[in-house]
Amino acid sequence: MNNLSIKERLIRYIDAGFPIIYINTFEEEKTDEIIRSVVQNRDICEWNESQGYVDFETKAAFMEGCPLETMLDTLNTFDSIDRKIIVLKDIHSYLEEPRIASKIKALAKLINQGADTSIIFVSNILVIPKELEQFITILEMDYLDSVEIKTTINAFISENELTPINEKLLEEFTIAFKGLSEFEINNILALAYAESGELTRQNLNLIFEQKQQVIRKAGILEMIPLKEGISDIGGLENLKSWLNKKSKIYKNVNSAREFGVDMPKGVLIAGVPGCGKSLSAKAAAKLFEVPLLRLDMGRLMGKYVGESEGNLRKAIALAEAVAPCVLWVDELEKAFAGVNGDNGSEVTTRLFGNFLTWMQEKESPTFVVATANNISKLPPELLRKGRFDEIFYVGLPKEEERRKIFEIHIKRRRPNDNISVDELAKKTEGFSGADIEGVVKDAVESAFANNKSCISESDIKEAISDTNSLYELMKESIDKMKEDYEKRKFKNASK
Ligand code: ATP
Repeated sequence: MNNLSIKERLIRYIDAGFPIIYINTFEEEKTDEIIRSVVQNRDICEWNESQGYVDFETKAAFMEGCPLETMLDTLNTFDSIDRKIIVLKDIHSYLEEPRIASKIKALAKLINQGADTSIIFVSNILVIPKELEQFITILEMDYLDSVEIKTTINAFISENELTPINEKLLEEFTIAFKGLSEFEINNILALAYAESGELTRQNLNLIFEQKQQVIRKAGILEMIPLKEGISDIGGLENLKSWLNKKSKIYKNVNSAREFGVDMPKGVLIAGVPGCGKSLSAKAAAKLFEVPLLRLDMGRLMGKYVGESEGNLRKAIALAEAVAPCVLWVDELEKAFAGVNGDNGSEVTTRLFGNFLTWMQEKESPTFVVATANNISKLPPELLRKGRFDEIFYVGLPKEEERRKIFEIHIKRRRPNDNISVDELAKKTEGFSGADIEGVVKDAVESAFANNKSCISESDIKEAISDTNSLYELMKESIDKMKEDYEKRKFKNASK
């Protein structure tokens, strides 16, 4: 159900008789509007914390200040709930009370027995008691599109009688607000207004800071600051020139689209640990001049029905809202290992299906960089053409590449020390990029400890002899990996 709007999903859940739908949101008014539009001749009863049992439309009290438990007591038979939508707001703190949870459970059972009813929880905090787990489906709010964001900004301006902003600035605000909810946008606008008394270009920084916080709070995507660029990668020339080609499109998304260019889907970079896969994901974002969002597959997995799928949907929606961006899916094999196999859980298989569909249909400029160590655990569907634009294999660096990696790391720490790297590169066959970085780090540290004014080649050679290369440590699995990638004819990231 990836591409359906919240309204369409709500209709499906209600029609399919899902007993409890948990709308996790701050946006009560908007939620009311959505519920109103899907009821189809059913009565709606509402309970909220401040007024008690009220008429959903007028908010006039049926039972003023009525406790939740009393309201639930009036709805305890099949007939009393049939053809009703029961909306319970601010419910989270009550759900931990066993009496309340058990009364709601009794209602959910009546629905499972055929009552044409849905219970809708509306709350900004997600609390799911054990006994209700099997009845609850979680629904996340959609993010606003550009037109809705503009309407929200303009409404704020006119409500606060501010000087209208020009079209260009409005556009910049709109892009900056992408990925945020109406509630969050209004909060940030209020903060900007309180700070400067008007809306100006200077507020864009504030928006960006706040947005990072919102993304952090959502907890599934991490916004990574852009530091490393393409020139920080030693070797991997094939991968770098491929990324360079794609960057032209990303730097000119609109004109590329107008020209008829398809949006690139993304790249899978697989191979030996510590050889620059993560580095390449970071460098891609910097090269494309777009934000980098990291998707933590581990954090995606939730305990409750619909939660993991909801989280993936949320992450995808957020990334698409922020787009153009690079979405870095780290340790892909951890997320999807065992799909369809004996160990694959149903949730993982469903998640995987959703991810594939999204990759297949994706038109937004969300460039996926997936990184993986071991692709033998990945389901074959993922490796088929059409999902990723290209799959690259990253192996241990060759001599020429090791030379470049040495130069990069020596220059980063000791820009003025003059060191010839030829011999160092020769002596480090089987070392990964991370090993080489470690060697340089150790040499710098020991030179400092020995009160030297600069590092020398011999400091580095000493560090090399104290290091076990990755190949020594993982010989068998590296050989096997190489064989596997060559058999599958993945592109070598190195020339
Ligand atoms: P893992 O699979 O363990 O996550 P990875 O392939 O993603 O490994 P990176 O995180 O990219 O490895 O590399 C670790 C560190 O090693 C990098 O931060 C970088 O400093 C250094 N490094 C690795 N490969 C290169 C390279 N080709 N050029 C320059 N530095 C490198």
